[in-house]
Amino acid sequence: MIATWAQIGYLVAAVCFIVALKGLSSPKTARTGNALGAAGAVLAVVITFIAYKPDNLVAILIALLIGTVGGVVGSRRVQMTHMPQLVALFNGVGGGAAALVALMELGEVHDGETVAAIATAFTILVGAISFSGSIVTFAKLQELMTTRPVTFPGLPVLFVAGLLGGVAVSAWLVSEPRVWVGVLLCLLGLAVGVMLVLPVGGADVPIVISLLNAFTGLTVAAGGYVLGNTLLLVAGTLVGAAGTLLTKLMADAMGRSVFNILFGAVRGGSTLGGGTASERPVISGSAEDVAILLGYAQRVIIVPGYGLAVAQAQHTLRDLVEELQGRGVKVDYAIHPVAGRMPGHMNVLLAEAQVPYEQLREMDEINGDFKSTDVVLVVGANDVVNPAARTTPSAPIYGMPILNADEAQRVIFLKRSMRPGFAGIENELLYDPRTTLLFGDARESLAKLLASVKTV
Ligand code: NDP
Repeated sequence: MIATWAQIGYLVAAVCFIVALKGLSSPKTARTGNALGAAGAVLAVVITFIAYKPDNLVAILIALLIGTVGGVVGSRRVQMTHMPQLVALFNGVGGGAAALVALMELGEVHDGETVAAIATAFTILVGAISFSGSIVTFAKLQELMTTRPVTFPGLPVLFVAGLLGGVAVSAWLVSEPRVWVGVLLCLLGLAVGVMLVLPVGGADVPIVISLLNAFTGLTVAAGGYVLGNTLLLVAGTLVGAAGTLLTKLMADAMGRSVFNILFGAVRGGSTLGGGTASERPVISGSAEDVAILLGYAQRVIIVPGYGLAVAQAQHTLRDLVEELQGRGVKVDYAIHPVAGRMPGHMNVLLAEAQVPYEQLREMDEINGDFKSTDVVLVVGANDVVNPAARTTPSAPIYGMPILNADEAQRVIFLKRSMRPGFAGIENELLYDPRTTLLFGDARESLAKLLASVKTV
């Protein structure tokens, strides 16, 4: 039992985590929330050192130093568009660490301590699944391997056998808590994690990160029980709950079920389309043509997407919007929940350019406005305005709610080529007679547009 002062300190850290989550729910308070969460984590680590006085202090400090340097350098260097794979890596390390701790604790689990043995088995199995699954996800997103779904004959049978084997070995471990049984369970977990993620492809991969994140949370919570550490229990439960909710929200935003995301490819449907550029004719225009459309409009809606992040064009976009607003044009940004490559990607990007929050309108809130809009300016977005989501049952994005850009008077796309978006399918809106394409890197196109709008 640890000292009362340490328990009170843990309580303060737990409150920091909960208030941090609340802060992260709005862009206005997200920075404070993040700082509060980090402060809670530092407090928890310091209390643990003082309260438990570990004998192998030097080894722990060296491990801490390595982890801190890796974390700081990795986080500072990562590009915004590569954030999902960094999250996958961190998540995998968390799951793996929990599984290792549980393996080490096996020696402390004595015969008859059934609940502790069940929690230990759970931590090892799910922690190992989370680790290997996250590493495969990282490899997919980093394009170290194909991003397409990978399946082979017999995969479903092997997967189910692995899962059942995991449950059986867990039961064995509970009745006989030996380290070698734990290692066997860990190996099974690693194999199941790989088989779980291999068939997931394309746009679904980040949803799986969120799911694995929930797994890691549950693993850590069970680890907290094994170690008798209430704070780990609380922190793990928070991560588990947040990961589960985020998974559900992302799946809903894509119009898919989590089961379909995980097992869709195994059942025969690919989650990623073809991906080739079409050669059908389109209407392309110059920056001057587009500037006239924008400059004389009364109502403009901006649809930002992944390409805005790639081009790092958020500041130029804000300048263009301010110029239009200065001319009396009403302009809003329409934010699709899965625009970009991570949840909240567009909010973060536009907040970085100091775009006022009130100009950012959620999909449900703005979708009714497109009908009365003169011009929609689609900047580096594609799938989130693709009408195939409504009309083409065979499309991988079928059922995903989209922004109703096709209901506006005119649509302008800023993109570099006729290549499709992430889902790899054609977008009929590009060929619509009301659509004009301004080809080029979004930052360069926006700079040209800004200069032209000033002269019309
Ligand atoms: P898309 O991937 O559909 O389209 C991006 C567009 O940006 C492409 O048309 C591309 O065309 C263009 N582009 C790329 N680079 C540039 C550049 N430098 N300048 C100008 N244009 C550029 O993005 P959306 O945001 O519309 O949709 C997001 C997709 O990602 C959805 O399918 C979603 O399901 C998926 N997804 C979202 C996640 C999330 O959490 N937000 C997670 C995982 C996937 P071109 O190459 O011709 O320039």
